[in-house]
Amino acid sequence: EAKRRGRRRAQPYVSGLAERLVERQHITDDLYEAVQNGGFSLAFQPVVALSSGITTGYEALIRWNHPTRGWISPDTFIPIAEDCGLIEEIGRWVIMEACRQLAGWSSHLHVAINVSAGQLKSDALLHHLTQAILVYGIAPERVEVEITETALIDDAARTAAMLARIRRTGIKVALDDFGTGQSSLAHLRDFQFDRIKIDRSFVIEAGSDARCMAVLRATVAIGQELGVLTHAEGVETREQLELLRSIGCDAVQGYLVGRPVVPFTDAVATLVPAAVGMVPSPSGDDPAAV
Ligand code: C2E
Ligand code: MG
Ligand code: MG
Ligand code: MG
Repeated sequence: EAKRRGRRRAQPYVSGLAERLVERQHITDDLYEAVQNGGFSLAFQPVVALSSGITTGYEALIRWNHPTRGWISPDTFIPIAEDCGLIEEIGRWVIMEACRQLAGWSSHLHVAINVSAGQLKSDALLHHLTQAILVYGIAPERVEVEITETALIDDAARTAAMLARIRRTGIKVALDDFGTGQSSLAHLRDFQFDRIKIDRSFVIEAGSDARCMAVLRATVAIGQELGVLTHAEGVETREQLELLRSIGCDAVQGYLVGRPVVPFTDAVATLVPAAVGMVPSPSGDDPAAV
């Protein structure tokens, strides 16, 4: 009986899986095409210092406008790019394009570039970063790479060595989506970062959940203890912003202070908010925004 039930249940799952595999193959083919024909663009989202309200830099977020499916989220296509070996090529484009744009911005601004697990495993990453910095004549300190906790799990010794090599060039390293992976505290112990980006999920509950607030407060304290900048992701409300300010968080990012914008113009780069949360963000400009 259990077996029959199991088989009946398994049926739609298997066909769903098959469909997903076919779908994935189509997306893979189209990704190759996009890499060949320059099908990507970058959106830039401001990073704002909480104490001064000044925009200190922008995070580059890749956008892909698929010829028939429209905007596909990087959360969908980056894992596929990793699996089919395209991540290095796409990552290289992101690095070059982000640095090209950075070269035109005011010199106090930095750019943050997301780097995935697959990129971290290869020396190509370091080559591409140093190449971009040389080509565009950029101070390495103005470039920051963001690495998620899940990218740190395999071969810790190798990864730590890679991060150290990156940091030795002057490029900064941020820990992205902090608190969502496993062994978050061990990561802070075992690797050196310049910034901890606290995941949006903690920010969402900050106002309503005392336990969440306690975790946030403790994380900021750890950052201060380690001499690492603390940065909250996904700040959407005034209340969240004030709570983060009250616990001494260094920086914020989120729809409240600015949505990702594309294309990035000089007008955006020179936009300095009078007060945090008062940024007249050109909302809706990010075509991939939900
Ligand atoms: P992430 O690096 O953690 O980026 C933050 C994501 O949250 C972005 O989604 C951003 O648009 C979104 N976001 C920002 N503020 C808010 C807010 O206030 N509320 C909400 N609900 N969302 C907010 P996006 O652009 O779809 O990117 C998703 C993920 O894809 C990124 O997460 C990053 O891990 C990855 N990614 C993006 N660009 C690249 C890239 O160039 N290379 C690699 N390897 N990964 C990338
Ligand atoms: Mg990021
Ligand atoms: Mg993040
Ligand atoms: Mg994320």
